[in-house]
Amino acid sequence: MTNPRELKARYPYQFAFEPIDMGVTRGWFHLFSRLCAEIDEALGEDKRGFHWIQLKEKLGSARMYFRLTEGVREREPELAQRLSSLAFAAEDASATVCAACGRPGRIDRRAGYMLALCDKHHEARQAGTRGSVWFEEDES
Ligand SMILES: [Zn+2]
Repeated sequence: MTNPRELKARYPYQFAFEPIDMGVTRGWFHLFSRLCAEIDEALGEDKRGFHWIQLKEKLGSARMYFRLTEGVREREPELAQRLSSLAFAAEDASATVCAACGRPGRIDRRAGYMLALCDKHHEARQAGTRGSVWFEEDES
């Protein structure tokens, strides 16, 4: 899978309600794609009650918010905890992955903005030549 559109086709139940934002950058897409697969596996046979509500960038790294409905949280608290841990791990990982290209990166607070980028993309951003880290509309 190379873009959100393909991911939605693979795990349609996770996107049964259109998220508020589909704010996954190109560089972070592999983290999110892996997270969707991990969640799919953790849910097992019964996929009911899970869907993404918001995916965005905040303070330089990714935030991936989901909702559990149909009493999943009450019925299976350990599962709910596991899903939260998986999402936190992916969010943490995004702080050290370039949002533009997916190579190792870092958040440089001295740069006057916050976004995890590799050295090459930090330089490009300073020079104003970085280009967008987001997917085009027809890919999302
Ligand atoms: Zn980069």
